[in-house]
Amino acid sequence: MEYMQAPASSTQGNILCSMCGIAIPPNPANMCVSCLRNKVDISEGIPKQVSVHFCRQCERYLQPPGTWLQCALESRELLALCLKKLKASVAKVRLIDAGFLWTEPHSKRIKMKLTIQKEVMNGAILQQVFVVEFVVQPQMCEDCHRVEAKDFWKAVVQVR
Ligand SMILES: [Zn+2]
Ligand SMILES: [Zn+2]
Repeated sequence: MEYMQAPASSTQGNILCSMCGIAIPPNPANMCVSCLRNKVDISEGIPKQVSVHFCRQCERYLQPPGTWLQCALESRELLALCLKKLKASVAKVRLIDAGFLWTEPHSKRIKMKLTIQKEVMNGAILQQVFVVEFVVQPQMCEDCHRVEAKDFWKAVVQVR
């Protein structure tokens, strides 16, 4: 994990950190930034494992509620699609960077490395790097379903 320290403010009216005892400007947690970083997980609430649905027939990913998008592995499009899945929880922090980590193509896993920041107190900004794993679940899209149903009926007709 990496963190950034906020610029030091006035030393007037300092309190002692309740954990390590160094002098710090008063804050609601009564803790210095380095103690806080050990205590606070700013990625809390962001799911670390999410599923994405993928149609193997047409090689498209589902962007809920009902859009299927063709996107290459490690493409910007796939990144955007994956980020949308986290949108509600990521909206509570500042997203600094997002990128894919290499995964074995047959692993059916997409790993994304996220860097986020959050102001925790008196302008102290914590930065955290973590990984979200997207599990690729096979699901046939509506279009392919329709084609398959049509082929089925064609086959039935031919048999007769
Ligand atoms: Zn401390
Ligand atoms: Zn399909």
